[in-house]
Amino acid sequence: MRTFPILVSFDGKPPLVTGGGELAAVKTRLLLKRAPSVDLAADEVTAELAALIEAGTVSMIASKPGIDQLRGRPLVIAATEDDEEDARVSAIARALGVPVNVPDRPELCTFALPAIVDRGEVIVAIGTSGASPVLAQRLRAWLEQELHPRLDALAKLAAEFRGAVADSLPSGPPRRKFWEAVFEGAAAEAMLEGDEDKARDLIGAAIAEAAAAPRPKGRVLLVGAGPGDPELLTMKAVRALKAADVIFYDRLVGEAVLDHARREAELIPVGKAKGAHSVAQEEINALLVARALAGQTVVRLKGGDPFIFGRGGEELDALRAAGVAIEIVPGVTAGIAAAASLQIPLTHRDVSHTVTFVSGHEAGGEEPTFEHLDLAALASGNNTLLVYMGVTTAGIIAKRLLEAGFRPGLPVIAVENASRENERRVRATIAELAEGPERLGLKSPAVLIFGEVAGLPASGVVETILSLEEVKRIYA
Ligand code: SAH
Repeated sequence: MRTFPILVSFDGKPPLVTGGGELAAVKTRLLLKRAPSVDLAADEVTAELAALIEAGTVSMIASKPGIDQLRGRPLVIAATEDDEEDARVSAIARALGVPVNVPDRPELCTFALPAIVDRGEVIVAIGTSGASPVLAQRLRAWLEQELHPRLDALAKLAAEFRGAVADSLPSGPPRRKFWEAVFEGAAAEAMLEGDEDKARDLIGAAIAEAAAAPRPKGRVLLVGAGPGDPELLTMKAVRALKAADVIFYDRLVGEAVLDHARREAELIPVGKAKGAHSVAQEEINALLVARALAGQTVVRLKGGDPFIFGRGGEELDALRAAGVAIEIVPGVTAGIAAAASLQIPLTHRDVSHTVTFVSGHEAGGEEPTFEHLDLAALASGNNTLLVYMGVTTAGIIAKRLLEAGFRPGLPVIAVENASRENERRVRATIAELAEGPERLGLKSPAVLIFGEVAGLPASGVVETILSLEEVKRIYA
């Protein structure tokens, strides 16, 4: 049974246990740890249960409860140890939508009972989806040792000051940071040591101080997410993701990277798929500025490196103009990741002395003219060209290079989805690429590596130009 933990309120109707034997007694005792009272449907009861009834915490109702006795219960545990009767109770409960548990009969359960670490207001529930109760017990024993016995007092203290903090501090990051400081600081220590007066004084003083302090300013981190593999995130990038109140991310940023985001962070896609709907750059700039001015820690997460064809420069200008604090976290750019994956060095003694990063599109999205590049100078060899955003224009690019004097046999390797599970590589010559760009079967995102280094031995599978059937299959 795959389960999802929730914490059930016992403020309304009491939970119901059916059965009066030892098993029912165990389950009743468990529920009474958290429930003010429990109803018990049984004819005969053990001495322990009789004592609880006497004390008033357990109330007897008639055995064999029906719809009216089950309706509206927060939960029911069928523990008569009579298979037929337990199945009957389970069936009614399920029909009514009342959560039901029958010990050791998972097929009759809609919920599982977790192992519990009980610290009053603070409660930890451990489940293993039925895989191993012993593992759950071991975890519980470990947590029992790790969690301070007076954690409950700390939670009560927080509850006591919750209103005062809400009145003095705006919600969101300022309030969260205040509480983080409290739990890490002297007030929490005093409370755990039992000095409640000191703890109260310290929190009171901290509230007054925080309320008087100037509002913290937000900031924007332009963070490189790397090419897709989360292992290629920098430690700084991970730290930024963990500190973010809001993350604006590009389409190229994969789920595995977003998994590192702080759970409470707001995740907002502003994806830039070529030709697809996306948020205009000016709008992104405005969003970043607005969130930072509202005091938030804003992460602008971009594929690869934020300053390589990522329009990071434009965002930087807008943020500077608005006086927002900025931090840049570099990332592994796609071309570098592609070379690493191929185990092909981009510069290599005698083979290549320079690397040029080139966009396969003009700024407005038009086909490349390469006016800004002295292609003839690059044609003399000893240079590696890394082309980004060149999937749809690959044929045109190859033609321009040939016109500029690149030798027709010069190798080019295209790497699709570098560093991801679906990475694909194809090698061709410029001439082949110019003649039939579709014969590489390329899909975005891909980088093209032009140069003698592309002819060096590569690690892993490198395809050569494809047959027309293969091309059809890829684009189907
Ligand atoms: N800032 C990014 C580049 C953004 S431009 C970086 O530094 O990598 C988008 C282009 O990057 C895509 O068209 C493609 O050419 C390249 N790209 C991004 N991720 C890629 C990946 N995992 N594999 C191959 N190319 C990728």
